[in-house]
Amino acid sequence: MQLSSFLQRFNEPETLKMAKLGRELRAQGIDVIDLSLGEPDFDTPQHIKDAAIKAINDNWSHYTPVPGFLDLREAICEKLKRDNNLDYKPENIVASTGAKQSLANTILALVDDNDEVIIPTPYWVTYSELVKIARGKVVEIKSEAKAKFKITPAQLEAAITPKTKVFLFSSPCNPSGTVYTKDELEGLANVFRKYPDIYIISDEIYEYINFIGAHESIAQFDDIKDRVIIINGLSKGFAMTGWRLGYIAASAEVAKATEKIQGQFTSGTCAITQKAAVTALTGDLKPTVEMTEEFTRRKKRVLELVAEIPGIECPEPDGAFYIFPDVSSYYGKSDGTTTITNSADFCMYLLNTAHVSSVMGEAFGEPACVRFSFANSLPKIEEAWKRIKEALSKLK
Ligand code: PMP
Repeated sequence: MQLSSFLQRFNEPETLKMAKLGRELRAQGIDVIDLSLGEPDFDTPQHIKDAAIKAINDNWSHYTPVPGFLDLREAICEKLKRDNNLDYKPENIVASTGAKQSLANTILALVDDNDEVIIPTPYWVTYSELVKIARGKVVEIKSEAKAKFKITPAQLEAAITPKTKVFLFSSPCNPSGTVYTKDELEGLANVFRKYPDIYIISDEIYEYINFIGAHESIAQFDDIKDRVIIINGLSKGFAMTGWRLGYIAASAEVAKATEKIQGQFTSGTCAITQKAAVTALTGDLKPTVEMTEEFTRRKKRVLELVAEIPGIECPEPDGAFYIFPDVSSYYGKSDGTTTITNSADFCMYLLNTAHVSSVMGEAFGEPACVRFSFANSLPKIEEAWKRIKEALSKLK
């Protein structure tokens, strides 16, 4: 018996692997604090839950149209107008089982064998693996912590070749928390204006978790909008990770292509989730704003806690709920038993000695760094960083 060669082409998500290791230790009775996972620790707002309960009672229990119910796609268009001043029609929208599926559909719809996909580092683990699944080639642009992990138009242009098919990025960024301003996006758009065959995948799933003001989408520049595929969803902004709803907004041609792929893989996403999503997208954003206020408080506190630890360089995130510090000053150090040689060792050391889970920077294309989530309660964050400080003080 032999499994397919396809399986050799890509890796398991490092974020999920760390969460699994944490759960295994917890099953042994060890109190592990999880700073590895990328999900809000809040409950879904009540009005959205009520809409789902109503949908069940109203018997929304059948298969759904592949791109999503019309009222959901209209609600997504309404949201894109209200929050982003962008004009889309339902034919431009495809709803999926999470933004992860939206990304997978889009990459499979655009990328051919050996096509180059430019991705600035650090990037979300899944991007590079999906490109490998599509048999494309990842071209990284290295960004630097001192530039707040932002790339410049010159760096972008230097990475473009005749084989470039897609530019893929997130703002706010997972894992760095980088948020591009309108001017910075315009700088990148000026480059894309010169290269009309490049698609731009703009992952905006952390849109609402922004500490510096209004969210800006690269789709706002009309002359490139047709080549932009916005990826968004309900997981982060509405604390709905388990409900599984993501969507794209794109040209009708790209939308149709992703619908064709989804039609064979999963069909339309859950009917109940879609009905609740209409309420989430068109309803009161107060719970979302309150969650972001809480993330703002936690970000401030976590930066204070990290500042007390020698040898950790931590840029302030402008969005999302992670810090992504450079921990490489610990590489080469040992507690007498374990020697830390890279970010994977660093994370395993913290898991085994401090019982805190985190995610190694290698998985995000930045081997000097480690990602720590602050989507956990303030008492847990305080306790986790106390333990991390103590564990790191043993490394000489
Ligand atoms: N994009 C980014 C940058 C993410 O961090 C995540 C979730 N960790 C996703 C997309 C996928 O979100 P969803 O739950 O909607 O699949």
